[in-house]
Amino acid sequence: MRRAVCPGSFDPIHNGHLEVIARAAGLFDEVIVAVSTNYAKKYRFSLEDRMEMARETLASLRGIIVEPMGEGLLAEYCRHRGVSAIVKGLRSSSDFDYELPMATMNRQLTGVETVFLPAEAHYLHLSSTLIKEVNVLGGDISDFVPKSVLKRLLAGEPPTEPPRRG
Ligand code: ADP
Repeated sequence: MRRAVCPGSFDPIHNGHLEVIARAAGLFDEVIVAVSTNYAKKYRFSLEDRMEMARETLASLRGIIVEPMGEGLLAEYCRHRGVSAIVKGLRSSSDFDYELPMATMNRQLTGVETVFLPAEAHYLHLSSTLIKEVNVLGGDISDFVPKSVLKRLLAGEPPTEPPRRG
């Protein structure tokens, strides 16, 4: 059985992530969505909430598991979970420049391959950070996130008031 992993912090999961995960599910027998936590980073959602939003959204797709990645090396996680490929979506050449050394390092560490999928044109501009910024400033993000994420983002803090002039 061919098992792949889509790793990320998914804070929160958005339509660009979903599209890549769905395509990975078409290429592999099983796809693990591994939700990472970097303790040096500040997240908008807890690990439990990030996993719940991913589970709710991906429930209709077969062969997908959502689980925490835990601490430590992604390459070791892959060895431990019997994962043969890491699937990454590429939005730009800067994504590629960032991902390439990690892909080579992961292969040299444990032999795990990385498969790059070009991001869908509609979602090239999407990142969790940009979506959170637009939401906080009162912009409509409903085209970019699944329903369970929209519900949580809209239930969050009210948009901040823009600074008054003069
Ligand atoms: P990070 O681990 O840096 O927090 P994210 O959780 O935002 O990353 O994203 C996880 C992975 O999802 C990225 O490494 C990338 O492969 C993919 N991804 C992110 N945004 C998009 C997008 N708009 N289209 C396609 N793939 C994406």
